[in-house]
Amino acid sequence: MLGSLRSIVQEVNAARNLTAVLEIIVHRVREIMHTRVCSVYLRDKQHGNYVLMATDGLNPKAVGQVHLAPGEGLVGNVVTREEPINLERAEAHPAFQYFPSTGEERFSAFLGTPIIHHRAVLGVLVVQQEEKRRFDEWEEAFLVTLSAQLAGVIAHAEATGLLACIGKQQRETHFSGIAASPGVAIGRVHIVTPHANLGTVPYSECEDVDTELALFQQALTAAQEEIREVGERLKSDLSPEERALFDAYISMLDDSSLAVEVCDRIQQQLSAQRAWAEVMLEHVRRFEAMSDSYFRDRAADVRDLGARVLMHLRQQQQSDRDFPDNTILIGEELTAAVLAEVPREKLIGAVSVKGSSNSHVAIIARAMGLPAVMGVQDLPYETIDGVDMVVDGYRGDLHIHPGAELKRRYDDIVKEEEQLARNLDHLAQLPAITSDGHRIRLMVNTGLMADVVRSLERGAEGVGLFRTEVPFLLRDRFPSEEEQREIYREQLEAFAPLPVTMRTLDIGGDKALAYFPIEETNPFLGWRGIRVTLDHPEIFLAQVRAMMKASLGLNNLRIMLPMISGLNELEAARKLVERAYRELLEEGYEIVMPPLGVMVEVPSAVYQVRELAVHADFISVGSNDLTQYLLAVDRNNSRVANIYHALHPAVLRALQEIVTAAHAVGTKVGICGELAGEPSGALLLVAMGYDMLSMNATNLPRIKATLRAVSRADIELLLKQVLQMNSPEQIESTVKGFLNEAGLKVSLQP
Ligand code: PEP
Ligand code: MG
Repeated sequence: MLGSLRSIVQEVNAARNLTAVLEIIVHRVREIMHTRVCSVYLRDKQHGNYVLMATDGLNPKAVGQVHLAPGEGLVGNVVTREEPINLERAEAHPAFQYFPSTGEERFSAFLGTPIIHHRAVLGVLVVQQEEKRRFDEWEEAFLVTLSAQLAGVIAHAEATGLLACIGKQQRETHFSGIAASPGVAIGRVHIVTPHANLGTVPYSECEDVDTELALFQQALTAAQEEIREVGERLKSDLSPEERALFDAYISMLDDSSLAVEVCDRIQQQLSAQRAWAEVMLEHVRRFEAMSDSYFRDRAADVRDLGARVLMHLRQQQQSDRDFPDNTILIGEELTAAVLAEVPREKLIGAVSVKGSSNSHVAIIARAMGLPAVMGVQDLPYETIDGVDMVVDGYRGDLHIHPGAELKRRYDDIVKEEEQLARNLDHLAQLPAITSDGHRIRLMVNTGLMADVVRSLERGAEGVGLFRTEVPFLLRDRFPSEEEQREIYREQLEAFAPLPVTMRTLDIGGDKALAYFPIEETNPFLGWRGIRVTLDHPEIFLAQVRAMMKASLGLNNLRIMLPMISGLNELEAARKLVERAYRELLEEGYEIVMPPLGVMVEVPSAVYQVRELAVHADFISVGSNDLTQYLLAVDRNNSRVANIYHALHPAVLRALQEIVTAAHAVGTKVGICGELAGEPSGALLLVAMGYDMLSMNATNLPRIKATLRAVSRADIELLLKQVLQMNSPEQIESTVKGFLNEAGLKVSLQP
């Protein structure tokens, strides 16, 4: 069963469009289950009906003609019940409806299963038989499994087909994802594909067929040359079979039929990259589908060969990467390095198919004030290069080919936001103080150099979190101690005499250094943060030495440790910091020992806050990770993003316990997770007693405005009220209601 499932899914994945997907499904299921009929009905999004879209066994003329509303007929009943219907005699069921155009009167046995995607019934998969018999358990289980596996592929193929047809008519269309960074961007899509990967080459057409054909020939020749050279160089190290493989590669590229296939597509105006990728992928799939394991293994060789030629095509067309104004970057999985590639003045929005609003790239987008939408799982992004788009980072919406009316509405929102931001400019010099005189320190989270200027302009009182891994992420090797010293000096100097809290390297999870890959099945529970640097004291020591050297004469450095899960890690790290300090004194640096703080972001640390607070100089809560670990929700996974609630009752209780326990031993507590930069979160955190809130520079003015407009007494009452509540949604709406009543328009989304 697994074999059949796998082969259908593989074939379906390789299909060119929705029609081909559905044809494969009906033929293959009918063949494997030995039924007389297999049909697929899909929801017509406009009317809400389910339409017969493909069949093997019913009258093909009925395709597109049979429509059923939810609840109507057997298919409509599968939709409303959201579970399979398995009948010995379909005609005896009260819901049975007969459609003469299908010729289905001959069939008695009926099994229909819903195809469910993101909790909605996308369609129904049906098999039918002439004889009166109930499909057995095995058959039912097979169809249910297949429907579940195919749902995503069908949704993707549907969206791609829709876009292809809409693209021709330039019709407005809409996709939903997760709101990851607020704001609106109206611009043009630019797709990023980080690696030479055949599967992610965007659909694009060429303007000049002859130039494109010439480029293709050059790339082919360059790849052949390269393989020949490598083969020559390794000649003495290769066995005769391995040498034969190199020859096979070259002759495959020599194969005129392959080139003809590609040139044919270029002649039809497809770009060389896309034409090459399509042809090579078809060959890969043909090899993968072969029963002989030797040939199946060759699929990887063909893929590799394809990627090589693609790389040469890319290199020739590098100049195409000039970014136009109003660029909206779209990729399968955006990274900080990719964002940094586009000149800031040209970049206005970002969209990622994978990831969620607490992924690190989303945090960076917010810090840059760049509207972003993440986790747009069904977006066939490879088909929309160069199209006009609106990114609505408030709601997580994308509008492709936006019409004039829609653009006007969004233009109005942009203007309103700019006005609100201007109204906050005067706050920069005023303190963050509640209306009844309670003072709070507002600091910033930094990572990019660009953050520094914006932070100072907005009146930040220091840096609560400098994510030192960001400069590491933007390089192709570890920065040296001296390079690091220069980076850190810039930060410390810019803010002096205000404090700058530098967090030691926090890699792992969704922060992968290309030059230090960490392959794990469960990266957020793996080798992350302090675990990596304690295992690599040479990396840790170089970093803290660079930090301390950079603080010479300024003395505004604070060092903070990420992902601490127990006292032993704090002690081990402190020993290394003290050793570095002693060494530097011996080397003649007249520096002062910086305060050493601990991030509380792992549940075990919550239960040891008192002890940690005794041994650390300050505590800072990482609410992003703390929420992820308390709720067991991967912060980077869009599928579970709807249950990631930083205002969950369990998270609020933990946050309250942390501050109470640390204050009991006289240690100051701050927070540098994203919650501090959200008006709802900031109110509750100040009410709990947090001494310092650290957030991105973008959010700082609105948080200050919010806190200045409320009294500590009122927010303490609000906190008391929400701590009694059991549902995160209720807590969120209660706090929003409070902000609304206080007339804090600036704290609410447009
Ligand atoms: C956090 O976890 O809340 C935090 C501030 O650290 P990061 O988001 O960089 O993991
Ligand atoms: Mg963290």
